[in-house]
Amino acid sequence: LHPTTAHARQAFEAWRAALRANAWDDDDHIQAIAARYDLGAHVATFRQFGGAVSTDIDDHAVEANRDENLPRWYPYDGRGHRVDRVALHEATHAIGRIVWPTGIMARYREVGHERESLTLLYLLAQNGEAGHCCPLACTAGLIRILQVEAHEDGRTDANWVALRQAWLERLLSTDYADRWHGAQFLTEVQGGSDVGANVVRATPAEDGSYRLHGEKWFCSVADAPLYLVSARPDDGRDGTRGVMAFVVARHLPDGAPNALRLRRLKSKLGTRSMASAEIDFEGAIGWPVGDFRRIVEVVLDRSRLYNAVCNCGMMQRAWREASRYAYHRRAFGSRVADFPAVARMLADLRVAACAARGLTFRLAALSDAIDLAQAGDTDRAAARILTNLNKYWTSHLATSQLRAAIEVLGGNGAIEDFSVLPRLLRDSVVTEAWEGGHNVLCAQALRDASRLRLHEPMFGFLTALARTDGVKRRLDGEAARWRWLADQPAEVGALHIRDAADRLRVVAQAAAIEAEGDDGPAGGAAIVAHLLAGDPWEDRGLADRIRQINQAALPAER
Ligand SMILES: Cc1cc2nc3c(=O)[nH]c(=O)nc-3n(C[C@H](O)[C@H](O)[C@H](O)COP(=O)(O)OP(=O)(O)OC[C@H]3O[C@@H](n4cnc5c(N)ncnc54)[C@H](O)[C@@H]3O)c2cc1C
Repeated sequence: LHPTTAHARQAFEAWRAALRANAWDDDDHIQAIAARYDLGAHVATFRQFGGAVSTDIDDHAVEANRDENLPRWYPYDGRGHRVDRVALHEATHAIGRIVWPTGIMARYREVGHERESLTLLYLLAQNGEAGHCCPLACTAGLIRILQVEAHEDGRTDANWVALRQAWLERLLSTDYADRWHGAQFLTEVQGGSDVGANVVRATPAEDGSYRLHGEKWFCSVADAPLYLVSARPDDGRDGTRGVMAFVVARHLPDGAPNALRLRRLKSKLGTRSMASAEIDFEGAIGWPVGDFRRIVEVVLDRSRLYNAVCNCGMMQRAWREASRYAYHRRAFGSRVADFPAVARMLADLRVAACAARGLTFRLAALSDAIDLAQAGDTDRAAARILTNLNKYWTSHLATSQLRAAIEVLGGNGAIEDFSVLPRLLRDSVVTEAWEGGHNVLCAQALRDASRLRLHEPMFGFLTALARTDGVKRRLDGEAARWRWLADQPAEVGALHIRDAADRLRVVAQAAAIEAEGDDGPAGGAAIVAHLLAGDPWEDRGLADRIRQINQAALPAER
């Protein structure tokens, strides 16, 4: 081999070796976050899992996402019985056998431990969907529904009580072979955002259950034993008020299949190692679970937080891949990382990852505080509006950051088996659509502002995080903008809300990072300054800041 070629190949090897470093140990910020939110007792689990994320899970996720290993659907068994079996590749199961014993779902047995599960999810998501992030989000939502139902409805129907208890035990299991996981089907052909347009019918039976008829258009985690399904009772009113939520088991207690059929598995851009189907319900037995609006709120709050955490994981991976590559790769006689334009991209990647993580985990801690009844009305109101906005911010940002990371890798960035980045980019486009698209989330935030004035508690919450006059002033400016918007006719608000949300992102994230003080990410002050920087032409501190951010993040590489 020519020495130049050999050197370039060695650089690839060094880059790959650097990425095998433990994802927990290699992440000063998540360690600081865990310390801040009292997760010290779980560090050994996080560290062990972080090691697996960078090695075994990484390898399995590559395997599980090969075209030939994607989920398969077997409609019939060998004797011609309709079974609708969805088979996942052994590599997906191998990941599951590492993930479930961490107690990622079992931690929901008691309220107040969600941030532990989300820390594990964050690490896992550094391998993208990996076949399990969506199932985990759905399962966490279903656990909460079944627990809340038990607490608040007081139903004594013998069948239901026994089923619910048995289901919960399986959902909370740490044993992958024994565990059940959940799925959530709201979307029909005519609408995902517009759940009020649902037409799947639910007919009451004598034992308190219903029979479901109709088609669901997007059914992820189709292999799950338990589905949460929205449907309209025969006597249901029009719109969302007439829709109810049901739990549907794929198999009945005697093992017989419930009355539903898969129509096909969808061929997807991303999240491909997880099976998404179209499903016909043909009289399937479903058990009603409480008030639909409350169910949707509980499920969506949880899944939007899960979604945001996954985006944070993918952004961290984008930064890790690109920064390590740029420090090993050479062009025109220099390290790529030393070109100012690349150094700036690396700083941007680091800032985006830290900023998203700081605010997202603050919301995760707030979610636990709410569940433990330790949060006041103001914080609850702030959590509602910020969880929606944060899902928009992080999912939109993740896609742009993954694209930037791919650019840092040059042509190699576009090669599917050179790095994880193309797969993560495809996954991130899907997470943008899940749990509410951007416009829908911004429209919800606008409604919450104009009808419920929730922007006031939101700005109260953010201002309490801010430490400097500069950030407080910026928040005041954005608050004035939101007040104006909230009072405009609906069409005017709808036209401008996304701009207002975009402007708010950097200030909200800056406040969250500032609140971490000296215990935040390395180079925290520079990160805040970078988030709030204005016109780059006028930005005299840009070069220094980029140096500070990159040096603080990767001191060994400088
Ligand atoms: C891979 C994959 C898996 C999925 N899995 C599931 C699943 O398991 N279960 C499930 O229930 N769903 C699932 N979905 C569906 C997903 O939740 C929906 O696609 C999403 O809710 C958007 O709905 P829609 O596709 O009908 O878009 P539409 O609602 O038709 O939206 C189209 C456009 O209109 C905009 N829009 C809609 N309403 C408004 C409004 N009020 N204000 C402003 N803009 C608006 C949207 O932002 C979007 O840009 C999945 C989707 C994908 C891609």
